[in-house]
Amino acid sequence: MLFQTQTFLVAGLSRSGISAADYLLDRGAKVYLFDDVEEEHVKDAALALKARGASILKREELTDYSERCDVLVLSPGIPVDHPLPVAFRRLGKRIIGEAELGALALRCPVVAITGTNGKTTTVTMLEQILNATGKKSVACGNVGKPITSAIGELGEDGIAVAEISSFQLETLYSLRPHIAVVLNITEDHLNRHYNMENYVYLKSRILKNCAESEYCVLNYDDPTVRGFSEKTKAKPVYFSVRERVEGAYIQDGSLCYYGERVLATQDLPLSGEHNLANALAAIACAKIMGAETSAIAGALKNFRGVSHRIQRLGEVNGVNFIDDSKATNVDSAIKAVESVKGETILLLGGKDKGYSYESLFEAIKSSGVVHCVLYGENAFKILNAALKKGYTMVTLCRPFDMAVRVAYLTAKKGQNVLLSPASASFDAFKSYEERGDRFSFLMEQLKRETQSNDAATETVEALCEEIAE
Ligand code: ADP
Repeated sequence: MLFQTQTFLVAGLSRSGISAADYLLDRGAKVYLFDDVEEEHVKDAALALKARGASILKREELTDYSERCDVLVLSPGIPVDHPLPVAFRRLGKRIIGEAELGALALRCPVVAITGTNGKTTTVTMLEQILNATGKKSVACGNVGKPITSAIGELGEDGIAVAEISSFQLETLYSLRPHIAVVLNITEDHLNRHYNMENYVYLKSRILKNCAESEYCVLNYDDPTVRGFSEKTKAKPVYFSVRERVEGAYIQDGSLCYYGERVLATQDLPLSGEHNLANALAAIACAKIMGAETSAIAGALKNFRGVSHRIQRLGEVNGVNFIDDSKATNVDSAIKAVESVKGETILLLGGKDKGYSYESLFEAIKSSGVVHCVLYGENAFKILNAALKKGYTMVTLCRPFDMAVRVAYLTAKKGQNVLLSPASASFDAFKSYEERGDRFSFLMEQLKRETQSNDAATETVEALCEEIAE
């Protein structure tokens, strides 16, 4: 791409949009910016980029600039059927994402990881394993650091461990991973991708540029993902928690790779079969990249997980609080329900993404969940699914703060309050992180109230004793 001769319209100033604009300005491109979010940090970012030579566009200027600009750099947050990309497409112009700019610039091997759930966990695990084995790897992409920001650090000898979402795959064409990983595909984002067929197609695009010399690491237990081996020239390496496969699997209580024992399952510090699957995928990638088995085992033993994913926060009056705010779809909430031990009050709800919640109540019925508190915009839709499945241990309580309190008051000593909402957070929060942080804040507040209640009770008791004397 000849940057100096082309004009770019960067739409959406999220972290990746800012990085894309920076990257383009560094290369002498003419850059226009657009974001209709009225928040301070977006305005600040736009002004900083303006100081470097970018021009900020107003909404009413977009039609004119769609005609003037050569390339639209679209944020993953903006759907490809939004009027702006539609206008670019009509004019026959290129629409790319920040990840595409990154893919064009990367000079090192890439392990690209996609799937409905487990991407961040697996990417983080693999980055830590590779770094422990002395290989310079950088987790990038959807995980936080945009690919264009990691290019300098990676150089030619690094390994990019890139998390790639279905939103990014909509505008990503040139990525040719040395290893393409597909963890699983279950219903998600149907409000954006319309139907499962389209969603599955988008996920399969991660493999499309791979050649015979490259690898795909595929979940053998997921029939859709297993079938992806037919859509690529890459050599398939499978992982499975159910059977011995050509690749990574569990045998006699150990995580194994092609006949070699890597780690006892009990030595993985994360709970849940889904995390064993993530670890097997990470092991397969690490072995393909030439990592030593002992170093892989050491790194996995020390892996502490990622915040907001089945994360134990603490306890209030004997009630355990568990934050799984990142469970933004049904399958991830099912995994939490199946893997959290003990009796549990489950907090469910938020913004609907267009799928059914009925399978969740099937799983709940055979789990430790003793009660569900439903909150948020989709509370009635979830209630409907519960009732259809004959599950009536529910309380409906729309505001989040109140729902957390109700869940705590419903729980008995020794039980858990689990936030695993099976829904996006955007009905009431900026992000799942903000929702998880609020949950943690409310737990601390309840702790303080309990302590001051205890203190008040002690004072009253002391006074009573004094009076009695
Ligand atoms: P992603 O980056 O794909 O959203 P995360 O690792 O952030 O994945 O996890 C998101 C949610 O999915 C969390 O609730 C987590 O407990 C759950 N999860 C993690 N791995 C898996 C998996 N392999 N299958 C299903 N759910 C998973």
